[in-house]
Amino acid sequence: MNSCTWCDEPVEPGQQHPDFAQPTHIECGFRAVGGSVAHVEHRCSCYVPGSVEDDPPGLTKREAAKAALRAFARVRRRMAMARNN
Ligand SMILES: [Zn+2]
Ligand SMILES: [Zn+2]
Repeated sequence: MNSCTWCDEPVEPGQQHPDFAQPTHIECGFRAVGGSVAHVEHRCSCYVPGSVEDDPPGLTKREAAKAALRAFARVRRRMAMARNN
């Protein structure tokens, strides 16, 4: 079985994160290394003392991983825009 090391869902061909030797989805590999949505947006306890923000509630681990990947793309766009101004 090649179920993902992060979310336990099957990893189909083309979904494998190239930097991981074990079966891991692209989004799950990012989530494992890059952190939760709250972390990407600097709302987690790494940035805000006492914060309990983490993965959004009600999502599966894989959905939360995709959300973190989207949040990362959003933050990166905002930073690119800030540089250009
Ligand atoms: Zn996964
Ligand atoms: Zn964090």
